[in-house]
Amino acid sequence: MDVEIRSKYKRFKQEEEILKQKVLTALKYFPELQEQGFITVHILELGNRDKGMAYRNTTDIGLTFGSSMHTIGHELMHLVQHTNQYNLPYSEFACDVWTVARTDVFNNVCPYVKGSEQTFKINPIKHRQFMIKAVKYYKKLGKYKWANKLKKELTQFIEVNKIPDVVTDYHINQQNKPSEVSGNSSHD
Ligand SMILES: [Zn+2]
Repeated sequence: MDVEIRSKYKRFKQEEEILKQKVLTALKYFPELQEQGFITVHILELGNRDKGMAYRNTTDIGLTFGSSMHTIGHELMHLVQHTNQYNLPYSEFACDVWTVARTDVFNNVCPYVKGSEQTFKINPIKHRQFMIKAVKYYKKLGKYKWANKLKKELTQFIEVNKIPDVVTDYHINQQNKPSEVSGNSSHD
C-alpha cells in the first residue's frame, strides 16, 4: 500500500512526510482498501486546522497537515462507504461511528455524533465502547433503530456522569467577597 501526497505548496516536504506516515498507519486498519494499491492525498490548505474530505469514485482524499488520526480514519472510511461492498450505512454520522469502532487509534470526538464530545471528555474508553456497540446494533437491528439507540445511550450516559456545575462555587465566592466594586467607581 502506498500513499502519494499532492500539494501545490512546495516548501513543506517534512510536513508531507509526517502526514504520509500518519496515513500509512491509518491504512493498516483498512483491509478493504488494500487491493486499491495506493491512496492519493490532496493537501487542502495550509495551517493546522483539522479538516478532511473524500472524493467519490476514486481513492483520493483531502487532508491538511493538521488532520487528526480520527479525521484521516474518517476519510478513509468514506472510501470504504463509496465502494458499496461492505454493508455500511451511508451517512456522516455512521462514518464517524464506524471509524471510532474500528480502532483505538481513531478514538476521538466525533463531530457528527451529538453527545460524543461530552462522552469522550467524561471517559474516552467508554466513548469507544458505545461506538463498538452501535455497530453491533446496526447488524442486529438494521438500518434505522441502531442510530437512535446510540443517541439514547449517549444522552443517558452524559446525564448520569455529568461533571458538577462550577457555577455553584462561583456564587459562594461572590457572596463572601466584600463589596468593594461599588465603592471604587465614585473616585472617578
Ligand atoms: Zn465525512
